[in-house]
Amino acid sequence: MSDQIRNIKGTKDLLPSESRLWLETESIIHNFMTLHGYSLIRTPIFEKTELFSRSIGQETDIVNKEMYTWDDIDGTSLTLRPELTASVVRSFVQNHLGNLSPLNRLYYIDSSFRRERPQKGRQRQFTQFGIEALGSPNPEQDVEIILIASRIYEMLGIEDLEIHINSIGSTSSRTQYSKSLVEYLERYENELSDISKKRLRTNPLRILDSKSDKDIKILTEAPLISNYLNKNDRKNFDDILKLLDDLGISTIKNPKLVRGLDYYNGMTFEILSNNIGAQSALCGGGRYDKLVEYLGGKSTPAVGFAAGLERLILLLKENKDTNPLNQADIYIIALDESANAYSFSIADKLRNKLGIKVICETLRRSMKAQLREANKNNAKFTILIGDDEIKSNQVIIKNMEDGTQTNALIDDIENYFGVDYEYK
Ligand code: AMP
Repeated sequence: MSDQIRNIKGTKDLLPSESRLWLETESIIHNFMTLHGYSLIRTPIFEKTELFSRSIGQETDIVNKEMYTWDDIDGTSLTLRPELTASVVRSFVQNHLGNLSPLNRLYYIDSSFRRERPQKGRQRQFTQFGIEALGSPNPEQDVEIILIASRIYEMLGIEDLEIHINSIGSTSSRTQYSKSLVEYLERYENELSDISKKRLRTNPLRILDSKSDKDIKILTEAPLISNYLNKNDRKNFDDILKLLDDLGISTIKNPKLVRGLDYYNGMTFEILSNNIGAQSALCGGGRYDKLVEYLGGKSTPAVGFAAGLERLILLLKENKDTNPLNQADIYIIALDESANAYSFSIADKLRNKLGIKVICETLRRSMKAQLREANKNNAKFTILIGDDEIKSNQVIIKNMEDGTQTNALIDDIENYFGVDYEYK
């Protein structure tokens, strides 16, 4: 036998034991977005590297060390997308979506790729769902984004979440703040962690995200962005907070929440759970009014969020009793080869006309083994067909819950299940 080939570190197979939960969750997300007037957008999984280095920013971990990048044969540098906002905005600009409507409400569910150290809730290929609303500069649009994110978790029964919120203001406020932060941190430069020392020169706002105890201690006295917001920034943030409050959405103001990406301005937020271990961020987002212009489009205000589907599923698995596998409502037991054609055509009718899940035997097992298989699949009924039954144009229907058996005419079988039985 040749060597077994294994999957790549940080990637996962979705196996049948979990695929139903994934399908159900994805379908809830699709419905939820549609209910809010958002349309699905799907972009290619790879793009020109420049798209990400230009929008996410050269001095971020993502661009610096986490992207899967290679040169194509013609020398173009290509990258597996590490997130979707840049791709969605690229597509928005390229396809002139802004000309079609003053407000574009877009959502996605797709894979992203980052070369991070894998651990629970952190993979190298993972799935993000998210929305981007392109066109409105107003606080109600920010609030709609936060509302949709928080309602999805609420609807799925996930509790104990914290919504952290901040405003990083306009670009000018942010530049001023950044200067003051650097001035403050320079006083402690030798005490900072190595990574923060580097960031002090490249991306100082990221230091606020640091997990190092030394850095956290130094940061307790650091200047706060809230003191650097101009009048407009402040009014905008207050309006967002008031509307959220009116809607009963409680938030925690977190002045250290700056999110590391270059393209953010104004409101930023993150939804956190304490129930999934170290990787507690479920969802992050905010406003990015400059990105469309930055990528060659007409200036368009925009706000959105991105959420991790694997982390959501981790929480759902903790909440849910694992459903017994119900692969079939009806298992058709063919007792002879001659029964195969009957078995397939009965199954077709039940599936197509009544929408019942049906499995037909193809392993030619004994009746006992097939009954066992039907039980394993949680079938509510089995239909037995053998030579004798075919001769009398009948089948035996066995109720697997109470063990009772009845005969039914083959031609009459759909009426039998359509009228008499609760099979779903
Ligand atoms: P970010 O753009 O980094 O804020 O990511 C948005 C969301 O995607 C996070 O809140 C996580 O839920 C999820 N996410 C980010 N990176 C990973 C990863 N490596 N593995 C799994 N989920 C991730």
